[in-house]
This record gives sequence, structure tokens and C-alpha cells, in this order.
Amino acid sequence: MSKYDFLIVGAGLYGAAFARLATDGGYKCLVIDRRAHVAGNVYTENVGGINVHKYGAHIFHTSDREVWDFANKFAEFNRYTNTVVANFKGEIYSMPFNMYTFNKMWGVITPEEARKKLDEQIASVKIAEPKNLEEQALSLIGPDIYNKLIKGYTEKQWGRKATELPAFIIKRLPVRLTYNNNYFNDSFQGIPVGGYTKWIENMLEGIEVRTNTDFLENREELTKLADKIIYSGMIDEFYGYSLGTLEYRSLRFETEYMPDTDDYQGNAVVNYTDAETPFTRIIEHKHFEFGTGKGTAVTREYPAEWKKGDEPYYPLNNDRNNDLYRKYEELASKDEQVRFGGRLGKYKYYDMDDTIADAAADYKKITE
Ligand code: UDP
Repeated sequence: MSKYDFLIVGAGLYGAAFARLATDGGYKCLVIDRRAHVAGNVYTENVGGINVHKYGAHIFHTSDREVWDFANKFAEFNRYTNTVVANFKGEIYSMPFNMYTFNKMWGVITPEEARKKLDEQIASVKIAEPKNLEEQALSLIGPDIYNKLIKGYTEKQWGRKATELPAFIIKRLPVRLTYNNNYFNDSFQGIPVGGYTKWIENMLEGIEVRTNTDFLENREELTKLADKIIYSGMIDEFYGYSLGTLEYRSLRFETEYMPDTDDYQGNAVVNYTDAETPFTRIIEHKHFEFGTGKGTAVTREYPAEWKKGDEPYYPLNNDRNNDLYRKYEELASKDEQVRFGGRLGKYKYYDMDDTIADAAADYKKITE
């Protein structure tokens, strides 16, 4: 008899959601994490009253009522709506692509004028079936916007030519012929009041958690503790990279605290969409919570090539990596004890709502 039903590796959102569901279902769980804290990459740290998103900005958004209800059990969500400012060499544009963007780019005022301009732009590139991110963007929005707001940002972010990237990445962004500049199309959106760390701590309430505990370093001993292992780390690392190494994109964050500046940029997110600026965006954390107090904290986000030992932030879902992932998945399907989940375990560009839905679906599948 094992001591636990589930050993959950990773105390991030996937691990915490799975642990909550399993515990409420009567299963005994142990959650471990190699970091010194819970909450994975949604971790926030309160610095002088400002919740700093330490591993990149997170804005919760979903259209899934069940996922929203689940999220709201562990925190109250504020009414933050993400609206992004793009700075291209000092020219300011509204993101995602909406009437404010088109007005600034072409001087058009009505949706009809914008449609006409977009159609001309799209027709000028003559792409029937987009095969990569560049072709997808050009056929969606045309060359003017592609060159100022997409190409530079995308190639910095991914460290690859836009012609070598999968088209689906750009489909994350809405294109609207209205003056609605909400970054997301979802029905529900907000930031947990009190920070994401508290949200995850509440989700893990009453569940045994061990931080500073590396599964791979204590594999044998930890494996014996539970009937099943729920693993939210990198699947290729779990298998010792035996079939090859999956590629990820990493990030480096530079956070600056400015006690004498109350408002640095007037918005939570400003993207620098030219190729030359080395960072992709600057986050001013207080704006996520409508902060009006003294001082501010900003984080510059520098994309970085990933190598073993670095933090993997984004899976690089091109054909080569997706094929390799499928091989790992096949290997995993023969192993009764372990199941993989979350952005790293599933090797998918999941948002937070996808991650919760993934945990709920996995829990259901494993326990039915
Ligand atoms: N993107 C862009 N310009 C921008 C913002 C985004 O070209 O100003 C593209 C870029 O390729 C990026 C993708 O859209 O990787 C998805 O952006 P999103 O904001 O969803 O990325 P995340 O917040 O997950 O990093």
C-alpha cells in the first residue's frame, strides 16, 4: 500500500488544480516542487504593496463557465481587462488589431473604410494557403501592420524567422473592426485580488506540499510513495531526453523598482514591436490592480534561447517538436504509473484556463 494515491510533481497551476480536485474527490495527495515556492510561473511576490509577476505577466481569461467558477473559489477576481499598447520606434498603436490601430495606421474612421483598406492590403500579398506565421499574418492583416507590429516582435520573441514559425501562434490575437481594444475575446477576465500566489495557496489549502524537492534527484524514493505520479514538468527531461530534446523558448526578466516614480508608462503592458529593442515588452505591475500608491515596479522581458538547465517558458510547437512529443507520449502511454499534464507535460501553448481544463479532464480520466 502506498502512502499517497497521487504524487503531484509541480506546484504550479496544473499541479494545484489537480491536487484540489483529487483531494476533494477523497484521494490522498502529495505535491512537490523543486522551487522554494508554490505557484510555478504564475507566482507573484508582494513588493511594497505591488504584486510583481515574477515569471511573466499573467492575465486570467476564459469563456469556460466551469473553469471560471473553479478559479473564483480561491480568490476574488478584479475587473482588469487587458489592453496593450504597442510602441514601434516611438509610434504608439493599440493592440490587438482594432479600429484604433487602423485609424493610426491609415487614418480610416469607419469599419467600412477599414475593411476596404484591409482587403487591399491582403490582396497585395496574394497568399492562398498560409503555411507559416508570416504568411498567416500577411493574409490576415496585410504588410503595413505585419511590418510594424508583428515581424520584429515575433522574431525577437521566438528567435526564429517568422517564415519558420507555426501559423497558429498569431491566431491567438483578435482582429476586430470595432473600437474594442480588449486583448481577449473571452467572456470572463480578471486578476486575483491579493496576487496569484495567494490564489494557488488557497487552492492547495489542507494539502501536503513539499517545496525545494526535486523529483528527478529523489526519483526512486519519491516514486515509491504513491500509486500514481502526475507530472507537470518537461516530459523529455522525465525520460532523460532518451528520444531527443524538445525545444523551448526561455525568458529573462529584469525588474526595476522605482520608489520616486508613481506611473512609468500609463499601462500594464507596452510591447516594443521593432527588431532592435532587445526586450519584447515592459510590464508595469501596479496597473493590473489599478494601484495608485507611491512608487512603481516595471519588468522588461527579454526572450532567450533555451538550453538544458534554463527555465522553459514556451513550447516551440513546430512539426519537428510535435512529432518528437508524440513519440514521448507513446512511451508514456506504456507506463501505467505516470501521467503528464500542463504546458510542459503536454507540450502545448496552454493559457491558464486551458491548464485548469487540462487538469480537470486528466483527473476525470484517471479516476473514472
Ligand atoms: N505578437 C506580435 N506583436 C505583438 C504581440 C504579439 O506579433 O505586439 C505575436 C507574437 O508572435 C506572439 C504572438 O503574437 O508570440 C502571441 O502573443 P501573446 O500576447 O498571446 O503572447 P504571450 O503573452 O503568450 O507571450
